[in-house]
Amino acid sequence: MKYEAVIGLEVHAQMLTETKIFCGCSTKFGSEPNTQTCPICIGMPGVLPVLNKKALEFAIRTGLATNCKISSYSRFARKNYFYPDLPKGYQISQYELPICEHGLIEIVVDNEIKKIGITRIHMEEDAGKNIHEGAGNYSFVDLNRAGVPLMEIVSEPDIRSPKEAAEYMKKLRAILRYLGVCDGNMEQGSLRCDANVSIRQVGQKELGTRAEVKNINSFKFVEKALEYEIKRQIKVIEDGGKIIQETRLWDSDRGITESMRGKEEAHDYRYFPEPDLVPLTVEQKWVDEIRAALPELPDIKRKRFVSEYALPEYDADLLTSEKSIADWFEAAVKAGRCDSQPGGQAKAVSNWMMGELMKLLNEENRTIGECALKPVQLADMLKLIDKGIISGKIAKTVFEEMYKTGKDAEVIVKERGLVQVSDEGAIEKAVDEVIAKNPKEVERFKAGDEKLLGFFVGRIMKMTKGKANPQMVNEILKKKLSLIQYH
Ligand code: ADP
Ligand code: MG
Ligand code: ZN
Repeated sequence: MKYEAVIGLEVHAQMLTETKIFCGCSTKFGSEPNTQTCPICIGMPGVLPVLNKKALEFAIRTGLATNCKISSYSRFARKNYFYPDLPKGYQISQYELPICEHGLIEIVVDNEIKKIGITRIHMEEDAGKNIHEGAGNYSFVDLNRAGVPLMEIVSEPDIRSPKEAAEYMKKLRAILRYLGVCDGNMEQGSLRCDANVSIRQVGQKELGTRAEVKNINSFKFVEKALEYEIKRQIKVIEDGGKIIQETRLWDSDRGITESMRGKEEAHDYRYFPEPDLVPLTVEQKWVDEIRAALPELPDIKRKRFVSEYALPEYDADLLTSEKSIADWFEAAVKAGRCDSQPGGQAKAVSNWMMGELMKLLNEENRTIGECALKPVQLADMLKLIDKGIISGKIAKTVFEEMYKTGKDAEVIVKERGLVQVSDEGAIEKAVDEVIAKNPKEVERFKAGDEKLLGFFVGRIMKMTKGKANPQMVNEILKKKLSLIQYH
């Protein structure tokens, strides 16, 4: 039996507004507990909430960036439940009339574009936080987070694999960060994800029964939790069982999902229109203004990178994942424009960024803005390769040192004597020596084992400490080997 997974994500994004959604309290992170509260956000009776216009603008901005229809009329609703971090006994959210609907975003998987539908985006307030550590048998409630504005972004069940789910999360995060509406930090909880997942036989139209997996707080875990959950569901079915609709918790330490509550225990939130807030009417003129002020977004930038720089979708997608990375790339390409092939080095810049640069940044957990290396320095190093002054192999050493010290490639090459050897006599000498030292390999090569060419090149490069011009080595080596005759 062949199964396919069906996944829909519900993502909560904390908005980067200065103040809370229905009062003027600060949203600053990390202050002393309960110092950023007032009668409104701690839910005293008789107080009246007033909508933060910036939060509404951020939600509209996000809706426009994800190709949603912006509702000219929408409404807040009360979602009723009890928990100590929610003193009002209800959360102000949106229900049947959300601010944005019917959107879509594009993801790139295996170098192909796939569209994922956005069902809705609505605004709501965050709850407080219960603290269980550090006071023996007591628990505390910190309400600084109560009333911080959130967006809930709900996808259609269009996602088909854990990889696609992770790509979707990455793309959504990129969009939110480009827009400046959310910092996208999953570890700190400013971006949270609940994953709904079901399986069905390939070819089947109806959706299977889904489980909702909560508590996923990193991109890695989006994939891991879904992989586990899909395997679990397939096993249940193959063992003759049935999937039950339930909420499951991802346990990252153990790498498993566990049942938290079934359908019977599911909350009935008794949603009803929020009587303390008037319905929202949004004027088209304002929406148009917000649209006109949108930055160039990741998908549009990606398409431009493909057409303008002839990059593969994969490269363009990665390079546009952060605006700072995209800007760095374009600066490096521009800085190198004057050489023989205009624009021709875009792919080389991309390769160095996606390979060496990202590797070094990841090792130190740094962002591109935090490194000493400047785009023009990469462009200058590529020129040295182009002119044959350094080999691609030596360039790796040069690049690493440029990254660490911020020195220019030319300086490093001079200081460390890394100039490529293009002297024919010197290379011939090395080739002769390697041929003389390895008669058995020469014999095998002559007998038809052409793979051995790489072996010889490797020995010659080693002998010349990687400095020999590889193209010349290849040419001279082939010529010399073809001259040798065995009887
Ligand atoms: P709820 O509000 O109870 O969480 P929704 O119907 O709004 O439920 O769906 C929430 C999410 O679940 C959406 O992202 C949707 O795409 C996804 N979803 C719905 N049905 C399925 C299913 N059978 N399999 C996988 N995902 C699903
Ligand atoms: Mg849900
Ligand atoms: Zn307040």
